[in-house]
Amino acid sequence: MARASRYNPGDCDDEGCGTHHRVDVRYVDPESDTVCLVSYRGAYCVYTEDDPWWDERARSAMVTGAAIPPPFNTMVMHVGDRAIQGALDALTEGGALTRWIAGHDDIDIIEEHHDMVVSMLPFLDLSTVVDPSNIYDEPVD
Ligand SMILES: [Zn+2]
Repeated sequence: MARASRYNPGDCDDEGCGTHHRVDVRYVDPESDTVCLVSYRGAYCVYTEDDPWWDERARSAMVTGAAIPPPFNTMVMHVGDRAIQGALDALTEGGALTRWIAGHDDIDIIEEHHDMVVSMLPFLDLSTVVDPSNIYDEPVD
């Protein structure tokens, strides 16, 4: 659960933090499979991260025979002129920011994937909200 704390509201003094500030972030650590890529483009933010609950989800998929979920996800969020956290705080109940989402398997090319989505922004259908809860809810068993 610790990983989810990046979304917690509150003041954040880290000016390099792309969740609370409108700054682009590039962090990829193949040693720990940790990914945080943030790119603000106008009213949208392209956000790529490792699934914080991937281990549990992969394990339960193996038990049930379901497809193994991708360990990394790229989302396009509509944030307006805010940072991610500000846009989340401004949501009314039941609201959602996410307009597009795709999973990836390969950390070696995750930056390429992220940059490709950034360059595809003008061509993506961002008119409808996508519910990311099915990939970001903590798995229950
Ligand atoms: Zn922060």
